[in-house]
Amino acid sequence: TIEDALDGALARREFHLEFQPKIGSNGGDVVGAEVLLRWVHPTMGFIPPDMFIQTAEETGYIESISAWVLDATCQQMRTWMDNGVTDIPLAINLSSQQLQSPELIATVTNTLRRHNIPPENLEIEITESMLIDDFEQAYQRLKQLRDIGIKIALDDFGTGYSSLSYLHKLEVDVLKIDRSFVGSLDTPQSKTIVQSIMTLAKTLHLSMVGEGVETVEQAQFLRANGCDEMQGWLFAKSLRAEDFEQWIADSEAMSTAARLAVA
Ligand code: C2E
Ligand code: CA
Ligand code: CA
Repeated sequence: TIEDALDGALARREFHLEFQPKIGSNGGDVVGAEVLLRWVHPTMGFIPPDMFIQTAEETGYIESISAWVLDATCQQMRTWMDNGVTDIPLAINLSSQQLQSPELIATVTNTLRRHNIPPENLEIEITESMLIDDFEQAYQRLKQLRDIGIKIALDDFGTGYSSLSYLHKLEVDVLKIDRSFVGSLDTPQSKTIVQSIMTLAKTLHLSMVGEGVETVEQAQFLRANGCDEMQGWLFAKSLRAEDFEQWIADSEAMSTAARLAVA
């Protein structure tokens, strides 16, 4: 059903992007946002990415969808810059197929150029599982992206095949602690794991993002242990562009209870 529905979904404009803010642990400023793909099917309604990304990869639809995500992201950044809304960097999620594609670098470079976006404003999130098939090739691609100036974040950190050897070699910029650890911070085990990941990140001079932050207690723990940035429903869910603009305006105008708690 998903496979059939994906056919032509892009042309029928069934996709849109949402944006989830990332908050600096010190001061509570909005320091970036993650771009999340949304699919609203005319009869089935909202279909979450976890339900269709894999099918899109298996069927090859991912190629055009990913190109659209990149293009729409850069276009949105340009609009926000031109309108003085914000110039925060946006992070997109890469699929494993994109990382394997020989065209990745050219596509990214051309899209950035077309919308006149500085590479520093684009962040790319990858997961550990994308590295195991062909590490050497993944390494080379990521290095090329970094050489252009794009930041690389290792997403869902701690859930995959975390290997210290590749972590050292990869030279990523950011570690995103998986929300499963953040969500279970009330257990001593999770506290220890999160603290260990943060020590590791500090040693390797990586910046740390805690994701899935839902409570003030979680935010306070992350902040106290040196986590640089946070993302989660405590601050905001993913928002459509218009709502994100409003959220930015509101958050500049007033401190929400959540932001006060961590600021
Ligand atoms: P992810 O990269 O780990 O994205 C974060 C997910 O956590 C998002 O789910 C987000 O809505 C959710 N989330 C954020 N804050 C909270 C919170 O406080 N609590 C809880 N329980 N959840 C929170 P979403 O949007 O359903 O995305 C699922 C996954 O789909 C993403 O996981 C990512 O791997 C993938 N994805 C999303 N957009 C894209 C895309 O454009 N391209 C590709 N290749 N994958 C995408
Ligand atoms: Ca992500
Ligand atoms: Ca994640």
